[in-house]
Amino acid sequence: MKVVLKNLTKKFPSRDRKSHTDVIAVNDFNFEIPDGKLIGLLGPSGCGKSTALNLISGLLKPTEGRIFFGDEDVTDLPPENRGIGLVFQNYALYPHLNVKQNILFPLQNLKGKDKLSKSEMLEKVTEAAKLVQIDDLMERKPRELSGGQQQRVAIARALVKRPKVLLLDEPLSNLDARLRIQTREEIRRIQQETGITTIFVTHDQEEAMSISDRIVVMKEGEIQQIGEPQEVYDSPANLFVARFLGTPPINVFEGQVQGGTLIIGEDTVMHIGGVADRQVYVGIRPEGFVLKEDGGFRCRLDRVEVMGRDISVVCTNTASVNPTVRAILSTDHKISLNAGRKEEGTFVSFSLISRKVFLFDKETQKRICFGEKSL
Ligand code: ADP
Ligand code: MG
Repeated sequence: MKVVLKNLTKKFPSRDRKSHTDVIAVNDFNFEIPDGKLIGLLGPSGCGKSTALNLISGLLKPTEGRIFFGDEDVTDLPPENRGIGLVFQNYALYPHLNVKQNILFPLQNLKGKDKLSKSEMLEKVTEAAKLVQIDDLMERKPRELSGGQQQRVAIARALVKRPKVLLLDEPLSNLDARLRIQTREEIRRIQQETGITTIFVTHDQEEAMSISDRIVVMKEGEIQQIGEPQEVYDSPANLFVARFLGTPPINVFEGQVQGGTLIIGEDTVMHIGGVADRQVYVGIRPEGFVLKEDGGFRCRLDRVEVMGRDISVVCTNTASVNPTVRAILSTDHKISLNAGRKEEGTFVSFSLISRKVFLFDKETQKRICFGEKSL
């Protein structure tokens, strides 16, 4: 089922008696979620993700705008008539019911022509439980399950009515790190097996990037960028998006374009084509550095962290906006052995991989595109 948002806006009245300005939690959302895709709604806490999801589910009424499921305008339909499945962070299972009864619950409330026989219901419950791999835990109460198992029950309960749209609000936040990764892969598998259009809300960029067909990056109620995860990572629309995606985060410097070159501090680091002289923010992804003895960009070496698969060279630079500069290099670089001990005044020189370098306008923080040629 395709989902279309048109001019979707939600304002909350201000609680602040002095200012009276409304909180615009969702501001003029216009986008389409193609049938059968998984979309990640991504942004920091308070940016309006839950509000957007609750508008789509019908738990909240929009201030303006319309919501369509396929060609049907569902804006005025209550949640129970929208054909949605909902999963929240805190599972929200019925504590006195066992797993089977919890999953059964939504089916028992079906009325009229949708009403199912007992054996039909049990068949659907078993099918949903198998899908999330909890069919051997049917008699247990929620308190006898781990967090991950409880969340699977919640997912099975959301799936049992075969929803047209599955809505998940930070479903993994209560799980420990390892289980989070495992469960997100499960969610992706289930989504692909069922082909249900899914909207997945998270503040965790890695989580969103790893399982989404498309991500919607939000900030303060505004959409910043929509695209495939790799595409957004490789060409962020602005400094916020560039900083929000990627671990370790992008390195940011104050810099300037002067006579077709990019200058950071005193170093001329790259040729830049087609940009007039101006001050800029420079973003350099950690994987954008290449150790090179005569490289144009010099940083003071702070320490080297061995990560196993690669090494992290941690430096400082007076033009850096972040406290440290982090370069990720493969382990064959000799620096891991020679420069691991901290020596006062040890410098490292880098050349830069131009497609890992982004320029941003100092005022608007929007990305400035340039013709490229690495030094
Ligand atoms: P997120 O899920 O991204 O953390 P929310 O959608 O919960 O963000 O909230 C977005 C903004 O709307 C926040 O500033 C929040 O304080 C405000 N907000 C959310 N719900 C309400 C409400 N019921 N009344 C007033 N303000 C709200
Ligand atoms: Mg939220």
